[in-house]
Amino acid sequence: MIDSHVHWNRREFNEDRDETLKRARQAGVKTFLNVGFDLQSSAESLALAQTHNDFLASAGIHPHDAILLADAEGNPQPEAPVVLDKIRYLAKDPNLVAIGEIGLDFFRDLSPRLAQFTALKLQLELAEELSLPVVFHIRDAWQETLDFVNKVGVPSKGGILHAFSGDESSVQWAKNHGFLLGIGGPVTYKNSNLDTLVVSAGVENLVLETDAPWLPPVPFRGKRNESAFLIHTLEKTADVLGLSPEDVDKQTTANFLGLFGGGSLDS
Ligand SMILES: [Zn+2]
Repeated sequence: MIDSHVHWNRREFNEDRDETLKRARQAGVKTFLNVGFDLQSSAESLALAQTHNDFLASAGIHPHDAILLADAEGNPQPEAPVVLDKIRYLAKDPNLVAIGEIGLDFFRDLSPRLAQFTALKLQLELAEELSLPVVFHIRDAWQETLDFVNKVGVPSKGGILHAFSGDESSVQWAKNHGFLLGIGGPVTYKNSNLDTLVVSAGVENLVLETDAPWLPPVPFRGKRNESAFLIHTLEKTADVLGLSPEDVDKQTTANFLGLFGGGSLDS
């Protein structure tokens, strides 16, 4: 299995990172995409990828931290070029395979919305310049994000709609633009309405993810998530699709490797 979205650098793993990582590998997770959400976590993600040959990394500024790149009126901050340069520098390393997580989050609104739009635009331009796919974080802003991306330019290298929670039109957008849906713990929740969307997307447009330490699947809700739990998301996704877990594993792995070209993974 591939955990296409995880945050091993988080302090939640400080006490037992090696043990937890060992459990994940024993559970069959072969590759981890460690996703950055600010400058520090992006640098930490790359450091993990440089020291573990089953890790890849992404770098980007999360919509929560969009204020680093733009002010409340949506004007770029004076220091925005420096922030973008730091991401550019990390991207010189072949272990850095995506720009993200970037997007819009109107659920928590931790940065002003106009700042979020500008931060997204600046980083979409960076992804194009660097010829990298993107990892989108979108929450309560699906239509706004996709409309905006359509307007400023859809990433030509594609990407992942992480923690997919869009509707049928978002599924169609993903299919039309070479984006994969990131399916994680929420697919196992009773109140999840992901089943029909997963079927409509089809297994060839999905990747699996944990978003650990967050969003644990059933039966671990309320606990810290970890990559070893990905098996529960795989099994539920297979169940929804009426396929075997082996087939879903094989196809979602191929989807991931197709998007990232294998990155610098040793095979
Ligand atoms: Zn994340």
